[in-house]
Amino acid sequence: MRYLIYLVLVCCFVACTSNQQHRFDLVISNVNLIDGTGKPIQSNVSIGIKDGRVTAIDSVSIEGAKNSIDGTGKFLIPGLFDCHVHTSEFEKDFPRFMHYGVTSIFITGGSSCTNEYYASMRSYGNQDTLPAPIVFHTSQHFTMEGRHPLKTYQGNWEDGKTVFLLNDTLQIENLVKEVTQYPIIGIKLTIEDGPHPPWVERMPQAFINKVQKEAMNYDTEVFAHVSDNVELEMAMDAGIQNIVHWTGIDIDFQRDTVLLEKIYQVRPSFITTFMIDKGFLYPLFPEWVADLRQENVFDEAYFENANKPEFLARAEQNMGFWRDYFQKDSVKLADIAAFQVEDIIALSENGIRFALGTDTGFFVMPGYSLHEEMQLLEMGGMEPLDIIKMGTYNAAEMMHAQDSLGSIEMGKIANMVLLDKNPLDEIRNTMAINTVIKRGKVQKRIEK
Ligand SMILES: [Zn+2]
Repeated sequence: MRYLIYLVLVCCFVACTSNQQHRFDLVISNVNLIDGTGKPIQSNVSIGIKDGRVTAIDSVSIEGAKNSIDGTGKFLIPGLFDCHVHTSEFEKDFPRFMHYGVTSIFITGGSSCTNEYYASMRSYGNQDTLPAPIVFHTSQHFTMEGRHPLKTYQGNWEDGKTVFLLNDTLQIENLVKEVTQYPIIGIKLTIEDGPHPPWVERMPQAFINKVQKEAMNYDTEVFAHVSDNVELEMAMDAGIQNIVHWTGIDIDFQRDTVLLEKIYQVRPSFITTFMIDKGFLYPLFPEWVADLRQENVFDEAYFENANKPEFLARAEQNMGFWRDYFQKDSVKLADIAAFQVEDIIALSENGIRFALGTDTGFFVMPGYSLHEEMQLLEMGGMEPLDIIKMGTYNAAEMMHAQDSLGSIEMGKIANMVLLDKNPLDEIRNTMAINTVIKRGKVQKRIEK
């Protein structure tokens, strides 16, 4: 009996001390803070985290932490968002996103994306034991028979399960009603017919209008895939508020006054996806492949794609397109970035929102390529502070999650990346990752 009392007392003591009230679970002290809102860098700041949220931001050192990280000489940015992701192997890809500080992703459909697959990804993202980003997603693709993405990408496209094939505007209301039962951010609508033969008509305007109208009735938004100015204008005519690619859009501010007027009226948000252009060119640049391989994060077998004749031929063809476009023999990545970033800067200055996304796919790699995306924007002339805002705060706004995510501010979920180098000196420094934190917990990165 005496032994038992002793045991109870010991247990109580252990329980009491381990439960000792710490004001913070984690403190990052004396760090240089880039909070994601676009505000200038603040030096010597301490961040207190409790129950997964930021509960103190102070210029003095903070006492009462269970764990602490000395941030001296380091740089803290919010966890990054990739707003255009596809994955058919999420258990493999999610740790890669986290390894590179991408703590939130937006999945915009795919041939694996049944309701069940979406549910698995969400629950994986909601736990904190295994490294996984927080998952946002659209509905399955709304498209038409024989069009993109079915004719472009092989996969398990099954009408009613991974895709919805529209053939009558009268179906649309029920389909919208069906998909809005799930926690989607919006409806993925593919306006593009597809880049290859057999040539088919684009989705008729009446279908686009109806999807947008029903989306509004059911209190959701449309995320449209367009591949050129004509399709962008069709989306604007319907009043669609989100465009999942910038790719293929080319604004001439003198020529495209009608389109611009419509853009400024609708005020859509855009996702960048510059990485599609770089991804397709990868086989022509062994140095890019070498850099990627050196990361030791991706399967070795994947790199064989860079040497396959069909992919080399396609890369050559893409390069040919750019040579024709710029009317010069040697085209650099900076040329491709510059003419697009120029438009994005001009539109941003007029209040149009841009968020970063990569469109993970051919040499567009989970996590790694979001850093390449940022480098392309810098190459094109955008300031690092603005690029970081596009990959954090703007993205959270697009997901309507800015109350809890997207910046390091009081009360927000503590998703953050501690860097050893200053990303404002050079955006490449976002790759100098020291620690990734999700909901206040230090995340396990991939061991190399
Ligand atoms: Zn995509």
